[in-house]
Amino acid sequence: MSQDNLIKFECTNCHRINYWTTRNIKKIKTRLELKKHCPWCKKHASHKETK
Ligand SMILES: [Zn+2]
Repeated sequence: MSQDNLIKFECTNCHRINYWTTRNIKKIKTRLELKKHCPWCKKHASHKETK
């Protein structure tokens, strides 16, 4: 089995990693940025893809 590319989403405010997801790297090349709720900031914040 080939491993899916695991990507993490880091809060741009506190830099904690709050979300994980996998994706097919061949399908999506752009860096993702999501508006997600950060439990540490206790608010919605931008989460950027990180390695
Ligand atoms: Zn945060």
